[in-house]
Amino acid sequence: MNRVTLIFLLGFMFFTNGCYAMEKVDLIIYGRYVVTMTADHEKTDKESIIENGAVAVKNGVIIAVGTAATIDASYNADQKISGKNKILMPGLINGHAHSAMTLFRGIADDLPLMDWLTGYIFPLEGQFVSPEFVKTGVELACLEMIKGGTTTFVDMYFYPEVSAKVIQKCGMRAIIGSASIDFPSPGFKGWDDSFGAAVDFVQKWKGKDSRIIPAFAPHAPYTVSAQHLSDAASMAKKLDVPVTIHVAEDRSETATIKEQYGTTPVRHVEKQGLLNVTSIFAHMVQPDDEEINILAKAKIGIIHNPTSNLKTAAGIAPLPKMLKAGVVLGLGTDGAASNNDLNMWEEIRLAALLHKGNNHDATAIPAYAALNMATASGAQAIGLKGKIGEIKVGQRADLIQLDFDRPHLTPLYNVISHLVYAANADDVVATIVDGKVLYKDGKFLTLDEEKIKEDANKIAQAMVKALAKEGK
Ligand SMILES: [Zn+2]
Repeated sequence: MNRVTLIFLLGFMFFTNGCYAMEKVDLIIYGRYVVTMTADHEKTDKESIIENGAVAVKNGVIIAVGTAATIDASYNADQKISGKNKILMPGLINGHAHSAMTLFRGIADDLPLMDWLTGYIFPLEGQFVSPEFVKTGVELACLEMIKGGTTTFVDMYFYPEVSAKVIQKCGMRAIIGSASIDFPSPGFKGWDDSFGAAVDFVQKWKGKDSRIIPAFAPHAPYTVSAQHLSDAASMAKKLDVPVTIHVAEDRSETATIKEQYGTTPVRHVEKQGLLNVTSIFAHMVQPDDEEINILAKAKIGIIHNPTSNLKTAAGIAPLPKMLKAGVVLGLGTDGAASNNDLNMWEEIRLAALLHKGNNHDATAIPAYAALNMATASGAQAIGLKGKIGEIKVGQRADLIQLDFDRPHLTPLYNVISHLVYAANADDVVATIVDGKVLYKDGKFLTLDEEKIKEDANKIAQAMVKALAKEGK
């Protein structure tokens, strides 16, 4: 063999190998349908819902999306998850929760808001909320959310450092708001020490773990003074982190703000600078038309909490008006004391149904819009647009699979319709965050379900005893 032939042969081998080499990835996950949530509103098309599709994941990132045939032709992985009868879609985003409050689930219901708060929740929080309580409560919340297909949540509660450690272990993604209020709260005398601790928490956790975003969480305009809201906004701007807060939740709040400041809740928080930072406003039941336009223009994320708003009798948010005005909308469960679960499928369905009935308009919130609020739009509402919420190359691999081989999902004419009007949390069979499988076929891979339930029941027994002592 002469030199020219050898060089030619080597070149040919290199060329053919280069052409046909399969790229090794960490995970390939398939779906009978891959619902990417990349369509604009209701206009789903072949590119946004891929029949017999697949997603290739490497280093926690989606690196390819397409038909199973095209993905199989270019990628190989040791870990493959079959898509037979499965729907593959982005993980759900719970935009407003108080996750440790799972331990108060069902302890007192059907009471006027103030009786419920002052007779049960505040005294129990004062007596029982501790680092151990928060650890178990958040673990229990993670079990429920992971099992139901939620991959990201925005939290607001005490001992945020404990929550962050649970999130690190369980593998979810979270924005963790360190709760601050003008009154005594677990571990604190009032605003100064609780906000000081929040600043420490944010500084310590910012950039520490890519799945955990620390945030400020002043409770609400009626429990935090104007000056303190302004301080929280300035500090959030300075440290470049989000603020999560309840705003315009019910009529009594609107009345209080009117009496104290002569204005409405949205205009009041605007004055304190909260529209100039990445703010996540929960509830927004009471905005007027002008406030809706202010929120749309400022691109503030509004989290709709339909179950909680119904249960606490706060009312019904003007969701169709906000959608029409271009407000950035997400969905949330709120805490399990006022919900009483963390099931995002229920919120999606309620968001789609409640406003139809309330407005006598069957087109008020289309199915895709409701699902969008729990995925792509929900990501934008919490400041994570482009990072999560869609199945798109470059986004983090936060994915869920639902089993559609079930009586209540048969026959299948329209995937979006089933996801919104017929699917349940129990249909979720795989939950993946950052490319890591956290839950598959009924098994938790990062949490000990039995131990967590046992711990939760022990804390619950102690609370029942304490309530019995008071004759409750
Ligand atoms: Zn809340």
